[in-house]
Amino acid sequence: MAAMCSVCGLRKAIVYQPHTGRALCRECFIEDVRSRVKREVERWKMLEPGDKVLLGLSGGKDSYVMLDILAGIHDPSKLVGVSIIEGIPGYNREEDIVKIRRHARDLGVDVVVTSIREYTGYSLYEIVQRARARGVKHSPCTYCGISRRRILNAYARMYGVDKTATAHNLDDEAQTAVVNMLRGDIIGLLRQHPLSPPMSTGIVPRIKPLRKIYEWETAVYAVQMGYPLQETECMFINRFPTLRAVVREELYRLEEESPGSLLRLLESLDEALEDHAKRLSREELPRCAKCGEPTSYNRRLCKLCEILEEAGVEKPIYSIKQPPIFLTRTSA
Ligand code: SF4
Ligand code: ZN
Ligand code: ZN
Repeated sequence: MAAMCSVCGLRKAIVYQPHTGRALCRECFIEDVRSRVKREVERWKMLEPGDKVLLGLSGGKDSYVMLDILAGIHDPSKLVGVSIIEGIPGYNREEDIVKIRRHARDLGVDVVVTSIREYTGYSLYEIVQRARARGVKHSPCTYCGISRRRILNAYARMYGVDKTATAHNLDDEAQTAVVNMLRGDIIGLLRQHPLSPPMSTGIVPRIKPLRKIYEWETAVYAVQMGYPLQETECMFINRFPTLRAVVREELYRLEEESPGSLLRLLESLDEALEDHAKRLSREELPRCAKCGEPTSYNRRLCKLCEILEEAGVEKPIYSIKQPPIFLTRTSA
């Protein structure tokens, strides 16, 4: 006989939560995830009443969960989504984006769709091909991550929002923290803290509301809510073994042996780094000689211009769609 829910004791459990040792019914599980996200958002004051927020919505399960929960705890008319199509053959992002856009509209959230090609002039696949032809060896994920971060920030600045929100989950955050530690990148580790300010005045503050939710929990949440799960995987996902891929495997093993390890790791870092993170300043960084975006000291170009130039893209177009009407109206 199926176990009863450890919380309500009324309904049959549908999921076992290893890090708490509880078995939960559908309703109590959904409520548990929602209340933990809300708690995390409130704990670090990620959202102030009236904040306009740009959500990065990939169409994957995590983006559905973030959209669903934020639309429940914040005024949906203050939220706008942006979906960025990478342009990777066989990766059915267009279909995914149609679905999440429809779902967002049902929740009262508008979604702007753009692509790496629209922004730079080339799709991700074309950039990777050009780079390879020139013998440049960056992983496709490097081009993808840098482009998506840039596009999200460029839209956020142009649309005049107060925050950007991304659907990084606990697994993502723990992996990034360990990679930062292994690289000795202490500033990177501090910058991950929810209280650290953005690096530059040109960067809109970022929030990660799902940072304490395990990836398996977002998957169960998405299935239980009937959200469409992405059917195809990116062709680049396992092709380039990176430090992050090694760390991911090790962390999964650790979590299996000792449930709750990832949560404890992030909780300890949150506590240990809080005072240091708050003291970081938001600087007026030098600007890229080509596009005018912030870059680090002693660099002529920003990271995106640099990797595109290496791939032979000398003149990226960097084009942005006009804001949806409601945003211009609410910002008036
Ligand atoms: Fe982009 Fe890499 Fe993810 Fe593919 S696997 S979508 S290239 S980050
Ligand atoms: Zn229950
Ligand atoms: Zn630049």
